This record gives sequence, C-alpha cells and structure tokens, in this order.
Amino acid sequence: MNSGDIRLIYLIFFFLELVWESFLGFLNLRYIQKTRGRVPEEFAAFVDSATYERCAAYNLARGRFSLLAQAASSLGVLALIFSGALGSLDAFFREWNTHPYIAGILFIFSVSLILYFLALPFSLYSRFVLEERYGFNKMTGSLFARDAVKSLALSVIVFAPLLAALFWFMDSAGPLWWLIAFGFTAGFQLFVSLVYPLLIAPLFNKFTALEEGSLKEKITALAGRLSFHIKGVFVMDGSRRSRHSNAYFTGLGSAKRIVLFDTLLSSLTEDEALAVLAHEIGHEKKKHLYRRLAASFAMLFAAFAIVNLLYRWEPLFAAFGFSAVSYQGIFVILSFCSGPFTFFLTPLFTCVSRLHEYQADRYAAAAGYARELQTALLRLGKDNLANLTPHPLFSFWHYSHPTLGERIAAISAAL
Ligand SMILES: [Zn+2]
Repeated sequence: MNSGDIRLIYLIFFFLELVWESFLGFLNLRYIQKTRGRVPEEFAAFVDSATYERCAAYNLARGRFSLLAQAASSLGVLALIFSGALGSLDAFFREWNTHPYIAGILFIFSVSLILYFLALPFSLYSRFVLEERYGFNKMTGSLFARDAVKSLALSVIVFAPLLAALFWFMDSAGPLWWLIAFGFTAGFQLFVSLVYPLLIAPLFNKFTALEEGSLKEKITALAGRLSFHIKGVFVMDGSRRSRHSNAYFTGLGSAKRIVLFDTLLSSLTEDEALAVLAHEIGHEKKKHLYRRLAASFAMLFAAFAIVNLLYRWEPLFAAFGFSAVSYQGIFVILSFCSGPFTFFLTPLFTCVSRLHEYQADRYAAAAGYARELQTALLRLGKDNLANLTPHPLFSFWHYSHPTLGERIAAISAAL
C-alpha cells in the first residue's frame, strides 16, 4: 500500500463520519422543528408551552451551530493534513538541534495549540453568544482567559513527562515497549484520577464541605441506610461559569467524594437532591466507574498495539505530509485517525452508558426515591432546556443518558 492509497482510505472514512454526523444532525433538527408546536403528552403536566418552546428554540440554535462548527473543523483538519503543514512543523522543530524528545513534545503541543485556536472562535461564540442568549453563561471574558492559561499550563505539566517517558520506552525498551508503555500510561491515568479531585479540580472551582443542617443529616442517614461510605459531600461553585447543573462522584478509593453543583442545590428540594444522590450511589454500588475504567484501559491497550504496528511504516507518514517517520508523528497521526476509524463504535459506548443510567435510576427507585427522582429529572430538564424530543436515531447514537421521557417512563415501570 502506498501513501496515495492510505490518503484515499482516510478520506473515505473521514467523509463517512462527516456525512453520517451531519445527516443525524439534520434529522434531529427537523424532528425538533416538527414536534415544536405542541407539548408532548408525557410532559404536558410538567412543562408549559412557553418553556417547551424555549427548549425547542435553544436546541435548534445549538444544533444548527454544531453542524456549522463540525463542517468548519473538518475543513481545518483536512487543510492541516493535506497542506503538508504537519511535516513542515515537524521539520522545523527537528532543526532546532534540541534533544529529540523536546522537539517531539514541542511538535505535539504546537499541533494541539493550532487545533485549539481553530476551535476558539466557535467555543467563544457558543459560550458568549448562544449560551448567553439563553441565560446560561455566567463566565466573564477574563475567567475564560484564566481558565485557558491554567489548562495549558496543566497539560504541559501532565503530558510533557508522559510523552518523554513514552518516547524513551519506544527507544530503549525493546520489542515489547508497547506493553510497558501501556502499563505505564494506565498507571499514570489512575494516578491522575486519584489526585484530580484533590489537586486539579480545586484550581478551577471552589469546593466547600456541605454545611451542617437538615440536608447533611438526611444525606448521612441515606448513606447509612444504603450502607455506603461517604468520604465527603462537597458543594461546587458551578454557578461561576454556567447555570447548567449537575452532580457527580469523583476520585477513586479514599479520595472519593460526592460533588453537588450549587446550581443543583438551588433548584431542587432536599428530597429531590437526595434522589439524585441515591442515583449516584447506584452507580457506585453497581461498580460502573470500574467498568468504565476497564473499558478505557482496553481501548488504551488497543491503541498501543496499533502504534506498535504502525510507528515505522513510512507510507503512513508520507500520507499525512511527514518527510520522515518519528515518535511524535505517529501519535499525531493516530489522533487524527481515531475519529474517522472509530465513529461507528459510538452506539456501543452510549448503549452501555444508558444501561448504567437505567440501573442507577432503578437503584434510586428501589431506595424509595422514584417520585422524587422523576420530579428532580423533570426540573433539571427544564432548567437546562433539555431537548425533550430528540430524534430516536440521534439519541440512540449520541446520548450517554436515556432521554428524559425514557427515564421517566422506566422509573414509573420500576414502581
Ligand atoms: Zn447517572
């Protein structure tokens, strides 16, 4: 196979993904448009027609914008690959006469920066125009800039040593380097998820222990009743950036904590917040986190096996505009390939994720919170202007959670 063939195969998969995603996007937009006039029966008791119309308008605006952003980013990626820019940039850093690992790391960071700046106008518009228009955005320009600088510094601190270690394994660990690299990266990922809630998340948000009071008492009682060991319940100042609300578990082992957004607490009743918490405890009890982690390790393993097969294959490098094979080149090439060559697996992951959500909902219902969970979900759906009527194929493909209607119905069925 020569580099021309490789380009052709890449382009075929690239456009398959683009066409399929655009098709789904259009399908979904048309469906929202079609169902726009009248509140669907299952929501009639909870959602007035003005709110329903607002949901439709918000999701139409977001859907249209994401189609546009997708097309623009595809153009950017193709330009980057087929203009030979990647090869020129790689050559530029090699000529610096620094250590080859440093040249490699600089190259990977430069490509990431280029992609970041290509996407920047879209993220600015999304946040400061679209989200602003619907009253979600709470972020100021200066907070946006500070977040960006912090994320950049953090990714240098986290990824530069990881990349250097990977280059070193490729250089000196022999034919089984990729197994060692996999083990190292998996361990690294575990380590980062351990320190994330303690060291990284606090750089961006303030976490305050939930104050003593009736909610705290009820949470402690609930945890006791479900024999669940809570290491800490924290309230996060999500309202600094957005009015969207959420709750999640974070960390592993003893660093595990429950995080409730302040926006969630301000809109739910105490019993509804407990229902959301029972759902989160359900995820823990059913070991969903560990399953997700195992799946991500399996993908990491596959990725390193593929790197090992391809990292010296010259035609592949030529197809992406590189003049020579390199350690840094293969990681960039694979990151450009990962979307087009795996997008058809998306429903596999979203189906499993939705199954987990159903299980966690059932757990909360069995714990006695069925009604409260339903009203909590409806309230959060309204607050977040959720799409109440996604096209079934679109939600099947993309949704990590069942639609609001599906969840309400499943909880009723579990009663
Ligand atoms: Zn969940």
